[in-house]
Amino acid sequence: MIAAAPLPPLVCLDPGHGTPPAVGRQLEPIGPGSRTLKIKDGGGAAGEAAVALAIARRARRLLLGRGYRVAMTRAGPTIHLGDGDGNIARARFCNRRHAALMVRIHADGSTVRSLHGVSTLVPVWHRGWTDDIYARSLRAGRALQKAVVRSTGALDRGIVRRADLTGFNWANVPVVLLETGFMTNPTESRHLRSGAYQQRLARGILRGIAGFAPRGAMARR
Ligand SMILES: [Zn+2]
Repeated sequence: MIAAAPLPPLVCLDPGHGTPPAVGRQLEPIGPGSRTLKIKDGGGAAGEAAVALAIARRARRLLLGRGYRVAMTRAGPTIHLGDGDGNIARARFCNRRHAALMVRIHADGSTVRSLHGVSTLVPVWHRGWTDDIYARSLRAGRALQKAVVRSTGALDRGIVRRADLTGFNWANVPVVLLETGFMTNPTESRHLRSGAYQQRLARGILRGIAGFAPRGAMARR
């Protein structure tokens, strides 16, 4: 008898935004059972949705080339997940696929135009919401942040723990959110819109994921 080969890890890529405004302004609970409601999608920084998608597509190509399985919450300009098309839907989409890691891809915005650099957001520990994914998400976040800073040479803004992200609190799989740079910084915005820089970001994402979820290893449950 020959044992079935284990499936390679599945990476769930979640390019931020791309929500129709009428859906984006709807409210959803920030965590299971929570009475705190938050809008689904404020739209992000100007140009962010397209940049996030371009980086995700490049990361997908690199991951597939290394033998990973990849799912994307959106592969075009607009999200079509059903299930409310909010951050709950994005998390559930990745949960259903038992992703080894959910990587949310965003770019920052600020009224302070000099701000620049890369940060990685991870969930805080919250009993019943993130207790099962907290440690692995933090480990993945550190691997991703380090690899992306190395591949881009961008300023390292570090790891940021967030309690208020719906897409974290509904996730049952390890989850991180990469802020790839500031759309509001003139220099970084130019980089973020260039194919060459997007490719460097994608390579960093691949290396970070490879450090957290080696291709040869089963996803840890
Ligand atoms: Zn965003």
